Amino acid sequence: MGSSPRRGAYRFLIAILLAFCIGIAFGYITSITATKDAASTIASWLKALGDIFVRLIRIVIPPLILFTIAAATSSIASARRLGRILAIMLFLYIITSTLAAFWGILGGVLFQPGIGVGLQPPKGYQPPTPPSGPDLLLSFFMPDFANLLTVSGSMTMIIFAIILGVATVFMGEPGRKIASMLSLLSTLMVKFVSVIMYYAPIAVFSYAGWLMISYGPAMLGAYAKFLGVQYGFTLFHFIAIYSIIVMLGGLNPIVYFKAQLTPFLIAFTTRSSAATLPFNMEAARKMGVPDEVFNITLPIGATVNMDGTALYQALSVLFISQLFGINLTSTQLGMVVMATLIGSVATAAIPGGGTIMLAYVLSVIGLPLEGVGIMMVIDPLADAIRTAVNASGDNACTILITKLIG
Ligand code: ASP
Repeated sequence: MGSSPRRGAYRFLIAILLAFCIGIAFGYITSITATKDAASTIASWLKALGDIFVRLIRIVIPPLILFTIAAATSSIASARRLGRILAIMLFLYIITSTLAAFWGILGGVLFQPGIGVGLQPPKGYQPPTPPSGPDLLLSFFMPDFANLLTVSGSMTMIIFAIILGVATVFMGEPGRKIASMLSLLSTLMVKFVSVIMYYAPIAVFSYAGWLMISYGPAMLGAYAKFLGVQYGFTLFHFIAIYSIIVMLGGLNPIVYFKAQLTPFLIAFTTRSSAATLPFNMEAARKMGVPDEVFNITLPIGATVNMDGTALYQALSVLFISQLFGINLTSTQLGMVVMATLIGSVATAAIPGGGTIMLAYVLSVIGLPLEGVGIMMVIDPLADAIRTAVNASGDNACTILITKLIG
Protein backbone atom coordinates (compact mmCIF):
# COMPACT_ATOMS: atom_id res chain seq x y z
CA MET A 1 0.00 0.00 0.00
CA GLY A 2 1.82 3.11 -1.17
CA SER A 3 5.48 3.91 -1.55
CA SER A 4 6.67 3.24 1.99
CA PRO A 5 4.88 1.12 4.61
CA ARG A 6 4.63 4.03 7.04
CA ARG A 7 3.19 6.43 4.43
CA GLY A 8 0.90 3.66 3.18
CA ALA A 9 -0.41 3.11 6.71
CA TYR A 10 -1.22 6.82 7.09
CA ARG A 11 -2.96 6.92 3.71
CA PHE A 12 -5.01 3.91 4.71
CA LEU A 13 -5.91 5.52 8.03
CA ILE A 14 -7.06 8.70 6.29
CA ALA A 15 -9.07 6.67 3.76
CA ILE A 16 -10.84 4.81 6.58
CA LEU A 17 -11.57 7.97 8.56
CA LEU A 18 -12.88 9.72 5.44
CA ALA A 19 -14.99 6.70 4.55
CA PHE A 20 -16.43 6.74 8.07
CA CYS A 21 -17.32 10.47 7.94
CA ILE A 22 -18.77 10.28 4.42
CA GLY A 23 -20.74 7.14 5.33
CA ILE A 24 -22.22 8.80 8.42
CA ALA A 25 -23.08 11.98 6.46
CA PHE A 26 -24.54 9.96 3.57
CA GLY A 27 -26.62 7.86 5.95
CA TYR A 28 -27.88 10.90 7.81
CA ILE A 29 -28.83 12.81 4.64
CA THR A 30 -30.55 9.72 3.23
CA SER A 31 -32.54 9.19 6.40
CA ILE A 32 -33.91 12.76 6.40
CA THR A 33 -34.50 13.17 2.66
CA ALA A 34 -35.49 9.78 1.21
CA THR A 35 -38.87 8.07 1.58
CA LYS A 36 -38.99 5.21 4.05
CA ASP A 37 -38.99 2.58 1.29
CA ALA A 38 -36.15 4.18 -0.65
CA ALA A 39 -34.08 4.54 2.53
CA SER A 40 -34.54 0.90 3.42
CA THR A 41 -33.57 -0.21 -0.11
CA ILE A 42 -30.42 1.94 0.04
CA ALA A 43 -29.68 0.57 3.52
CA SER A 44 -29.91 -3.03 2.35
CA TRP A 45 -27.56 -2.35 -0.59
CA LEU A 46 -25.08 -0.66 1.73
CA LYS A 47 -25.24 -3.59 4.11
CA ALA A 48 -24.61 -6.03 1.25
CA LEU A 49 -21.51 -4.05 0.22
CA GLY A 50 -20.26 -4.22 3.83
CA ASP A 51 -21.09 -7.92 4.08
CA ILE A 52 -18.76 -8.65 1.16
CA PHE A 53 -15.88 -7.56 3.39
CA VAL A 54 -17.00 -9.79 6.25
CA ARG A 55 -17.29 -12.75 3.87
CA LEU A 56 -13.79 -12.16 2.49
CA ILE A 57 -12.52 -12.23 6.05
CA ARG A 58 -14.37 -15.44 6.81
CA ILE A 59 -12.62 -17.03 3.85
CA VAL A 60 -9.16 -16.05 5.00
CA ILE A 61 -9.50 -17.04 8.66
CA PRO A 62 -8.81 -20.83 8.34
CA PRO A 63 -5.58 -20.55 6.28
CA LEU A 64 -4.48 -17.52 8.28
CA ILE A 65 -4.79 -19.44 11.55
CA LEU A 66 -3.20 -22.55 10.08
CA PHE A 67 -0.05 -20.89 8.79
CA THR A 68 0.54 -18.21 11.46
CA ILE A 69 0.13 -20.61 14.38
CA ALA A 70 2.02 -23.51 12.76
CA ALA A 71 4.89 -21.14 11.87
CA ALA A 72 5.00 -19.63 15.37
CA THR A 73 4.90 -23.07 17.03
CA SER A 74 7.67 -24.48 14.87
CA SER A 75 9.94 -21.52 15.61
CA ILE A 76 9.23 -21.50 19.35
CA ALA A 77 9.60 -25.28 19.65
CA SER A 78 12.91 -25.28 17.78
CA ALA A 79 14.30 -22.87 20.35
CA ARG A 80 13.80 -25.47 23.08
CA ARG A 81 17.24 -24.91 24.57
CA LEU A 82 15.99 -21.53 25.65
CA GLY A 83 13.39 -23.37 27.69
CA ARG A 84 13.67 -21.33 30.86
CA ILE A 85 13.27 -17.92 29.26
CA LEU A 86 10.45 -19.22 27.09
CA ALA A 87 8.60 -20.86 29.97
CA ILE A 88 8.70 -17.70 32.12
CA MET A 89 7.86 -15.55 29.12
CA LEU A 90 4.82 -17.58 28.06
CA PHE A 91 3.61 -17.73 31.66
CA LEU A 92 3.79 -13.92 32.01
CA TYR A 93 2.24 -13.31 28.61
CA ILE A 94 -0.68 -15.58 29.44
CA ILE A 95 -1.26 -14.00 32.88
CA THR A 96 -1.21 -10.41 31.57
CA SER A 97 -3.42 -11.16 28.56
CA THR A 98 -5.93 -13.05 30.71
CA LEU A 99 -6.07 -10.08 33.07
CA ALA A 100 -6.59 -7.75 30.10
CA ALA A 101 -9.45 -9.91 28.77
CA PHE A 102 -10.98 -9.76 32.24
CA TRP A 103 -10.88 -5.92 32.19
CA GLY A 104 -12.64 -6.01 28.82
CA ILE A 105 -15.45 -8.12 30.24
CA LEU A 106 -15.65 -5.98 33.37
CA GLY A 107 -15.88 -2.79 31.28
CA GLY A 108 -18.63 -4.32 29.13
CA VAL A 109 -20.64 -5.50 32.14
CA LEU A 110 -20.24 -2.31 34.18
CA PHE A 111 -20.74 0.30 31.44
CA GLN A 112 -22.86 -1.64 28.91
CA PRO A 113 -21.79 0.43 25.88
CA GLY A 114 -24.03 -1.46 23.41
CA ILE A 115 -27.30 -1.42 25.35
CA GLY A 116 -30.26 0.50 23.92
CA VAL A 117 -29.48 0.43 20.18
CA GLY A 118 -31.55 -2.67 19.42
CA LEU A 119 -29.85 -3.99 16.25
CA GLN A 120 -31.71 -6.84 14.57
CA PRO A 121 -29.71 -10.08 14.44
CA PRO A 122 -29.28 -11.31 10.84
CA LYS A 123 -32.14 -13.31 9.29
CA GLY A 124 -32.18 -16.92 10.39
CA TYR A 125 -29.81 -16.27 13.30
CA GLN A 126 -30.33 -18.71 16.17
CA PRO A 127 -28.62 -17.97 19.48
CA PRO A 128 -26.66 -21.13 20.24
CA THR A 129 -27.56 -23.17 23.27
CA PRO A 130 -24.29 -23.28 25.21
CA PRO A 131 -22.89 -26.81 25.20
CA SER A 132 -22.18 -28.37 28.54
CA GLY A 133 -19.51 -30.72 29.89
CA PRO A 134 -18.46 -33.40 27.38
CA ASP A 135 -20.11 -31.52 24.48
CA LEU A 136 -18.03 -28.44 25.23
CA LEU A 137 -14.87 -30.54 25.29
CA LEU A 138 -15.74 -32.28 22.03
CA SER A 139 -16.63 -28.96 20.35
CA PHE A 140 -12.86 -28.24 20.35
CA PHE A 141 -12.27 -31.34 18.23
CA MET A 142 -14.27 -31.35 14.99
CA PRO A 143 -14.76 -34.83 13.52
CA ASP A 144 -13.61 -34.13 9.93
CA PHE A 145 -10.88 -32.18 8.25
CA ALA A 146 -13.55 -30.42 6.17
CA ASN A 147 -14.93 -28.87 9.39
CA LEU A 148 -11.60 -27.15 9.96
CA LEU A 149 -12.13 -25.12 6.81
CA THR A 150 -14.94 -23.07 8.35
CA VAL A 151 -14.69 -20.22 10.86
CA SER A 152 -16.55 -22.30 13.43
CA GLY A 153 -13.89 -25.01 13.15
CA SER A 154 -11.16 -22.53 14.09
CA MET A 155 -10.46 -24.07 17.50
CA THR A 156 -9.71 -27.46 15.91
CA MET A 157 -7.67 -25.68 13.23
CA ILE A 158 -5.58 -24.09 16.01
CA ILE A 159 -4.95 -27.51 17.59
CA PHE A 160 -4.09 -28.92 14.14
CA ALA A 161 -1.67 -26.02 13.51
CA ILE A 162 0.09 -26.46 16.87
CA ILE A 163 0.55 -30.20 16.29
CA LEU A 164 1.81 -29.47 12.77
CA GLY A 165 4.37 -27.00 14.16
CA VAL A 166 5.57 -29.51 16.76
CA ALA A 167 5.73 -32.26 14.10
CA THR A 168 8.11 -30.16 11.98
CA VAL A 169 10.50 -30.07 14.95
CA PHE A 170 10.21 -33.84 15.43
CA MET A 171 11.26 -34.27 11.80
CA GLY A 172 14.67 -32.82 12.59
CA GLU A 173 16.70 -31.30 9.75
CA PRO A 174 14.19 -31.83 6.89
CA GLY A 175 11.51 -30.30 9.11
CA ARG A 176 13.41 -27.01 9.13
CA LYS A 177 12.66 -26.54 5.45
CA ILE A 178 8.98 -27.03 6.17
CA ALA A 179 9.21 -24.63 9.13
CA SER A 180 10.65 -21.91 6.91
CA MET A 181 8.01 -22.63 4.27
CA LEU A 182 5.32 -22.27 6.94
CA SER A 183 6.81 -18.95 7.95
CA LEU A 184 6.73 -17.82 4.29
CA LEU A 185 3.13 -18.95 3.95
CA SER A 186 2.26 -17.10 7.14
CA THR A 187 3.74 -13.91 5.66
CA LEU A 188 1.76 -14.62 2.48
CA MET A 189 -1.51 -14.81 4.41
CA VAL A 190 -0.75 -11.53 6.17
CA LYS A 191 -0.20 -9.99 2.71
CA PHE A 192 -3.44 -11.57 1.55
CA VAL A 193 -5.20 -9.72 4.36
CA SER A 194 -3.59 -6.46 3.28
CA VAL A 195 -5.01 -6.99 -0.21
CA ILE A 196 -8.50 -7.46 1.26
CA MET A 197 -7.88 -4.28 3.22
CA TYR A 198 -8.05 -2.26 -0.01
CA TYR A 199 -11.77 -2.94 0.15
CA ALA A 200 -12.01 -1.83 3.82
CA PRO A 201 -12.78 1.86 3.10
CA ILE A 202 -15.79 0.82 0.97
CA ALA A 203 -16.92 -1.55 3.73
CA VAL A 204 -16.54 1.16 6.37
CA PHE A 205 -18.47 3.67 4.23
CA SER A 206 -21.22 1.12 3.60
CA TYR A 207 -21.59 -0.11 7.15
CA ALA A 208 -21.46 3.44 8.58
CA GLY A 209 -24.16 4.53 6.10
CA TRP A 210 -26.30 1.44 6.78
CA LEU A 211 -26.05 1.83 10.57
CA MET A 212 -26.84 5.53 10.36
CA ILE A 213 -29.95 5.00 8.17
CA SER A 214 -31.17 2.06 10.23
CA TYR A 215 -30.29 3.09 13.76
CA GLY A 216 -29.41 6.80 13.62
CA PRO A 217 -27.53 8.68 16.29
CA ALA A 218 -28.04 5.93 18.90
CA MET A 219 -25.25 4.05 17.13
CA LEU A 220 -22.87 7.02 17.30
CA GLY A 221 -23.51 7.27 21.03
CA ALA A 222 -22.80 3.54 21.42
CA TYR A 223 -19.51 3.85 19.52
CA ALA A 224 -18.43 6.82 21.66
CA LYS A 225 -19.24 4.87 24.81
CA PHE A 226 -17.34 1.81 23.56
CA LEU A 227 -14.24 3.87 22.82
CA GLY A 228 -14.47 5.65 26.19
CA VAL A 229 -14.61 2.32 28.05
CA GLN A 230 -11.87 0.78 25.87
CA TYR A 231 -9.45 3.70 26.29
CA GLY A 232 -10.15 3.94 30.04
CA PHE A 233 -9.54 0.26 30.82
CA THR A 234 -6.64 -0.12 28.39
CA LEU A 235 -4.82 2.86 29.91
CA PHE A 236 -5.55 1.50 33.37
CA HIS A 237 -3.92 -1.80 32.39
CA PHE A 238 -0.95 0.07 30.93
CA ILE A 239 -0.37 2.29 33.95
CA ALA A 240 -1.36 0.09 36.91
CA ILE A 241 -0.48 -3.45 35.79
CA TYR A 242 2.75 -2.59 33.97
CA SER A 243 3.90 -0.46 36.95
CA ILE A 244 3.49 -3.50 39.17
CA ILE A 245 5.28 -5.83 36.72
CA VAL A 246 8.16 -3.40 36.22
CA MET A 247 8.51 -2.86 39.98
CA LEU A 248 8.60 -6.64 40.50
CA GLY A 249 11.37 -6.59 37.91
CA GLY A 250 13.31 -4.18 40.13
CA LEU A 251 12.95 -1.09 37.93
CA ASN A 252 11.44 2.28 38.79
CA PRO A 253 8.21 2.58 36.73
CA ILE A 254 9.09 6.20 35.86
CA VAL A 255 12.20 4.93 34.04
CA TYR A 256 10.03 2.41 32.17
CA PHE A 257 7.34 4.92 31.14
CA LYS A 258 9.99 7.41 29.98
CA ALA A 259 11.80 4.82 27.85
CA GLN A 260 8.51 3.43 26.57
CA LEU A 261 7.14 6.79 25.40
CA THR A 262 8.65 6.59 21.90
CA PRO A 263 7.53 2.98 21.14
CA PHE A 264 4.10 3.84 22.60
CA LEU A 265 3.67 6.75 20.19
CA ILE A 266 5.08 4.84 17.22
CA ALA A 267 2.68 1.96 17.92
CA PHE A 268 -0.23 4.37 18.44
CA THR A 269 0.31 5.96 15.03
CA THR A 270 1.48 2.99 12.91
CA ARG A 271 -0.97 0.58 14.59
CA SER A 272 1.46 -2.26 14.08
CA SER A 273 3.39 -4.07 16.81
CA ALA A 274 5.67 -5.48 14.12
CA ALA A 275 6.61 -2.00 12.88
CA THR A 276 7.24 -0.92 16.48
CA LEU A 277 9.64 -3.80 17.21
CA PRO A 278 12.93 -1.91 16.49
CA PHE A 279 11.82 0.98 18.73
CA ASN A 280 10.82 -1.43 21.49
CA MET A 281 14.27 -3.06 21.27
CA GLU A 282 15.94 0.32 21.53
CA ALA A 283 13.86 1.12 24.64
CA ALA A 284 14.79 -2.25 26.20
CA ARG A 285 18.47 -1.54 25.57
CA LYS A 286 18.08 1.87 27.24
CA MET A 287 16.57 0.21 30.31
CA GLY A 288 19.59 -2.09 30.57
CA VAL A 289 18.02 -5.35 29.35
CA PRO A 290 20.70 -7.66 27.85
CA ASP A 291 20.44 -8.24 24.08
CA GLU A 292 20.16 -12.01 24.41
CA VAL A 293 16.98 -11.62 26.47
CA PHE A 294 15.08 -9.05 24.43
CA ASN A 295 16.16 -10.64 21.14
CA ILE A 296 13.93 -13.56 22.14
CA THR A 297 11.17 -11.96 24.20
CA LEU A 298 10.37 -8.95 22.01
CA PRO A 299 9.96 -10.60 18.57
CA ILE A 300 7.89 -13.43 20.07
CA GLY A 301 6.01 -10.91 22.22
CA ALA A 302 5.19 -8.76 19.17
CA THR A 303 3.56 -11.80 17.58
CA VAL A 304 1.84 -13.52 20.50
CA ASN A 305 1.50 -11.13 23.44
CA MET A 306 -1.30 -8.64 22.82
CA ASP A 307 -2.93 -7.39 26.00
CA GLY A 308 -4.56 -4.42 24.29
CA THR A 309 -6.07 -6.73 21.68
CA ALA A 310 -7.31 -9.24 24.28
CA LEU A 311 -9.06 -6.43 26.16
CA TYR A 312 -10.52 -5.02 22.93
CA GLN A 313 -11.79 -8.40 21.69
CA ALA A 314 -13.40 -9.25 25.04
CA LEU A 315 -15.08 -5.83 25.25
CA SER A 316 -16.19 -6.12 21.60
CA VAL A 317 -17.90 -9.45 22.30
CA LEU A 318 -19.94 -7.85 25.08
CA PHE A 319 -20.62 -4.76 22.98
CA ILE A 320 -21.88 -6.80 20.03
CA SER A 321 -24.03 -9.07 22.20
CA GLN A 322 -25.56 -5.94 23.79
CA LEU A 323 -26.16 -4.30 20.39
CA PHE A 324 -28.09 -7.36 19.23
CA GLY A 325 -29.80 -7.83 22.59
CA ILE A 326 -28.28 -11.32 23.09
CA ASN A 327 -27.63 -12.31 26.69
CA LEU A 328 -24.43 -14.17 27.47
CA THR A 329 -24.42 -16.88 30.12
CA SER A 330 -21.61 -17.14 32.67
CA THR A 331 -20.23 -20.18 30.78
CA GLN A 332 -20.08 -18.03 27.66
CA LEU A 333 -18.28 -15.27 29.58
CA GLY A 334 -15.71 -17.86 30.67
CA MET A 335 -15.36 -18.88 27.03
CA VAL A 336 -14.80 -15.21 26.10
CA VAL A 337 -11.63 -15.15 28.24
CA MET A 338 -10.32 -18.33 26.66
CA ALA A 339 -11.28 -17.35 23.11
CA THR A 340 -9.75 -13.86 23.38
CA LEU A 341 -6.58 -15.33 24.81
CA ILE A 342 -6.28 -17.57 21.76
CA GLY A 343 -7.62 -14.88 19.42
CA SER A 344 -5.03 -12.33 20.59
CA VAL A 345 -2.21 -14.86 20.15
CA ALA A 346 -3.42 -15.63 16.62
CA THR A 347 -3.79 -11.91 15.75
CA ALA A 348 -1.25 -10.65 13.21
CA ALA A 349 0.81 -7.66 14.39
CA ILE A 350 -0.55 -5.42 11.64
CA PRO A 351 -3.19 -2.65 11.55
CA GLY A 352 -6.63 -4.13 12.01
CA GLY A 353 -5.37 -7.67 12.78
CA GLY A 354 -7.36 -7.81 16.01
CA THR A 355 -10.66 -7.03 14.30
CA ILE A 356 -10.06 -9.70 11.66
CA MET A 357 -9.43 -12.28 14.41
CA LEU A 358 -12.55 -11.04 16.22
CA ALA A 359 -14.41 -13.23 13.70
CA TYR A 360 -12.89 -16.27 15.40
CA VAL A 361 -13.81 -15.05 18.90
CA LEU A 362 -17.40 -14.27 17.86
CA SER A 363 -17.79 -17.68 16.27
CA VAL A 364 -16.63 -19.42 19.46
CA ILE A 365 -19.26 -17.54 21.46
CA GLY A 366 -21.89 -18.01 18.73
CA LEU A 367 -22.52 -14.31 17.99
CA PRO A 368 -23.36 -12.88 14.53
CA LEU A 369 -20.19 -12.36 12.48
CA GLU A 370 -21.66 -9.05 11.23
CA GLY A 371 -20.08 -7.80 14.46
CA VAL A 372 -16.74 -7.68 12.62
CA GLY A 373 -18.11 -5.17 10.11
CA ILE A 374 -19.67 -3.12 12.89
CA MET A 375 -16.33 -2.91 14.75
CA MET A 376 -14.46 -2.17 11.52
CA VAL A 377 -16.23 1.21 11.37
CA ILE A 378 -14.26 2.53 14.38
CA ASP A 379 -11.21 0.33 13.99
CA PRO A 380 -8.53 3.01 13.41
CA LEU A 381 -9.39 4.62 16.75
CA ALA A 382 -9.71 1.35 18.65
CA ASP A 383 -6.56 -0.09 17.04
CA ALA A 384 -4.30 2.85 18.00
CA ILE A 385 -4.55 2.39 21.77
CA ARG A 386 -4.57 -1.41 21.72
CA THR A 387 -1.41 -1.55 19.60
CA ALA A 388 0.37 0.98 21.86
CA VAL A 389 -0.37 -1.24 24.86
CA ASN A 390 0.41 -4.49 22.99
CA ALA A 391 3.93 -3.23 22.34
CA SER A 392 4.42 -1.76 25.81
CA GLY A 393 3.37 -5.03 27.48
CA ASP A 394 6.19 -6.91 25.77
CA ASN A 395 8.77 -4.61 27.30
CA ALA A 396 7.22 -4.62 30.79
CA CYS A 397 7.31 -8.45 30.81
CA THR A 398 10.85 -8.43 29.41
CA ILE A 399 12.07 -6.45 32.43
CA LEU A 400 10.54 -8.94 34.85
CA ILE A 401 11.89 -11.90 32.82
CA THR A 402 15.39 -10.38 33.02
CA LYS A 403 15.13 -10.25 36.81
CA LEU A 404 13.66 -13.77 37.13
CA ILE A 405 16.37 -15.44 35.05
CA GLY A 406 19.00 -13.59 37.04
N1 ASP B 1 -2.66 -3.69 15.33
C1 ASP B 1 -2.39 -4.57 16.43
C2 ASP B 1 -0.91 -4.80 16.59
O1 ASP B 1 -0.18 -4.71 15.64
C3 ASP B 1 -3.09 -5.87 16.32
C4 ASP B 1 -4.57 -5.63 16.40
O2 ASP B 1 -5.16 -5.19 15.42
O3 ASP B 1 -5.15 -5.85 17.48
O4 ASP B 1 -0.48 -5.09 17.68
